[in-house]
Amino acid sequence: MALTERPASWKFEIEMPEMGNPDSITVLSAEPGKESLEAIFYDGQVFEFTKSLSVSAEARWAGNDVSVSVFVETAFSSSCSRCLAPSDIEIMNDFMYLYSLRKNEASGENTEEDDFQVVPVSRWTRFLDISDQVWESVILSLPRQVLCSKDCKGLCPLCGKSLNEGKCGCSPDTLDPRFKKLLGVRIEEKRE
Ligand SMILES: [Zn+2]
Ligand SMILES: [Zn+2]
Repeated sequence: MALTERPASWKFEIEMPEMGNPDSITVLSAEPGKESLEAIFYDGQVFEFTKSLSVSAEARWAGNDVSVSVFVETAFSSSCSRCLAPSDIEIMNDFMYLYSLRKNEASGENTEEDDFQVVPVSRWTRFLDISDQVWESVILSLPRQVLCSKDCKGLCPLCGKSLNEGKCGCSPDTLDPRFKKLLGVRIEEKRE
């Protein structure tokens, strides 16, 4: 299964603030329906939307650049990486992007300026396409490890019972060491 890419229907464009007016602010509020994308497959994990994505953005001039704050809010269901139980994930996150006509001068230069990610644009048009940045904001908001709870005990590698529901009767002392490695608890203790 390939990583999910931004669906073509997810198009977000924000009107440019008035040229040369530092007080001019434009806003965007959008909600691509769940039907446009039901799930995201990312980093070996399936994230099913349980709520429509809501996107809001604000653009204003920052010197000769346009700064855009992107706010994404949604909810997913995904499987706990230890016990496989469906787990709810809520996302509410702000990201800042700086759209700039400046070319990335030296190659290899870090384009991250503090909390801003610089997005080069070739010229200003009436609308600024922020589709890729909205998609990136959603992807960056996904948890790196899905857990039903911080102390999820995982599944017994012998009988498959969820150890969150209590002991299963298998004795951990008799476990084959190779199985022990499969215990979620052990994985967390393991250091690379
Ligand atoms: Zn769990
Ligand atoms: Zn067991």
